[in-house]
Amino acid sequence: MDDLNALLKRAESNEDFRKLLEKLRWAEGFKCPRCEGSHYSRIKTRGLLQCRTCRKQVSATSGTFLHGVRNLRAWVKAILSFREEDSHSAVAQALLLDRSYATTWFMLHKIRMVLGSSLYNLTFEAEGALAVPCSFLKPALFKASSEGEPPQPRCKTVLSREMVSRACSFIVYLLDVFHGVSRKYSQVYAFEYALRERSSELTPLRLIGCFVRGSPMLRRDIFECFSPFLLYF
Ligand SMILES: [Zn+2]
Repeated sequence: MDDLNALLKRAESNEDFRKLLEKLRWAEGFKCPRCEGSHYSRIKTRGLLQCRTCRKQVSATSGTFLHGVRNLRAWVKAILSFREEDSHSAVAQALLLDRSYATTWFMLHKIRMVLGSSLYNLTFEAEGALAVPCSFLKPALFKASSEGEPPQPRCKTVLSREMVSRACSFIVYLLDVFHGVSRKYSQVYAFEYALRERSSELTPLRLIGCFVRGSPMLRRDIFECFSPFLLYF
């Protein structure tokens, strides 16, 4: 792992990041996705590996969530930004990554989808979801004019000391990063908060490792999944 960390630290070009992803994907040695063969030769000019048994050509990202991504540098940076304490808006991220707003918006949502499914098992299966009553979050929520009265909770929720402390961190996050949010969208922000909280607990390599598996995602699916939350920024 040490040399991978060093590789990540030094990585600057897309080629460096491709090498890193290759090592992460085939940490146990190359395995052809078609025939599971372990022998390969390298096609240097195209950054591909060719299976010696079935001659399939693969790259570090083919068939994974990062399938077809050319600018690996920008993607890895965007993925790692989920470990950072202060969250950036898509606009700020776009400037940092030197991409257009639309591209950055798309990148960040795709990353959220992948992380959401990868971290789900770690988060909810282990501990169960943390249910925080809206009344508790009041200092950080404001009511959008289109909202009706919220349903009154039927029973009193008892929060443990640990839950109160986590809920307080959530309130601070909502106030600090977003200066309060609309109650209507608070669930989306809660999702974002949980993602970032969990991501920050993972090592950079483990976080990037979530992306060197899975299967490619269609652009359409990502837009459909997130379009109701376009207001989220
Ligand atoms: Zn093969």
